[in-house]
Order: sequence, then C-alpha cells, then structure tokens
Amino acid sequence: MDCLFCKFINKELKTDIVYEDENMLIFKDIAPQAKRHYLMVVKSHFKYLADMTENDSIMLARALKKLPELTELLGLEGGYRLVINQGDDAGQTVPHVHVHILCGQKMGWTPA
Ligand code: AMP
Ligand code: ZN
Repeated sequence: MDCLFCKFINKELKTDIVYEDENMLIFKDIAPQAKRHYLMVVKSHFKYLADMTENDSIMLARALKKLPELTELLGLEGGYRLVINQGDDAGQTVPHVHVHILCGQKMGWTPA
C-alpha cells in the first residue's frame, strides 16, 4: 500500500510518534499549524470517512474517546481543536483519514 501514514503505522518509515496503542497512532505533524500539532490515525486504511462502515467508525470513536486520557502527554489542558480535512476543497493532501489535533495556544476561527 503506497500510503505515507500506513508506512508510519507499519514502521516502514520513521516518524515522531507520541502515542500508540492497538487501535491508533498519534505523531507530530511535520509542518505544525499551531504551537502543538499532532495527527491521529487509526490503524486501517480509509481514504475518506465515507469509506468507513459504521463498524469501522468504532475505531475512530475509540481513538477520540482516548484523547482526554492523553491530556498531560499531549498538552491539552488549555483546550484543543480537532480537524478532519476531507477532499480537495478542505485541502486534504494525505489519502488516509486523519484527525489533526491542534493545541498549545489560543486559536482564531478564520478558515480562508
Ligand atoms: P491534510 O492536508 O489534512 O491531508 O493533512 C496532512 C498532514 O500531513 C499535513 O498537515 C502535513 O503537514 C502532514 N504531513 C505530511 N507529510 C508528513 C510527514 N512525513 N510526517 C508528518 N506529517 C506529515
Ligand atoms: Zn493508509
């Protein structure tokens, strides 16, 4: 599978992993858009949310539900923003569903 994030999951390529369990991986975004910027991916390949069945989406729900437990590790104390870009208009560049976790600063709300 020629997917960058699958290669991180399979350890074919190295990345800066901050958390991993049997369901998901959280690593640092290479081009941070906030003081702290992580990417959370589930360990199965889906290009779009639309490709997931209801059963598949449990993996994503599980990953989201885990976040409060990772407050200290990720530095989420002050609040955080989750973003899932889907398709061209949103600027999705990596075709593996991922959740951006932005935190560590106050944020505006001005999508260009
Ligand atoms: P999106 O534009 O929503 O598809 O997000 C893809 C994200 O992956 C962008 O924020 C990129 O900065 C990030 N990214 C691309 N290549 C790498 C990499 N090698 N390591 C970590 N993050 C990456
Ligand atoms: Zn993938």
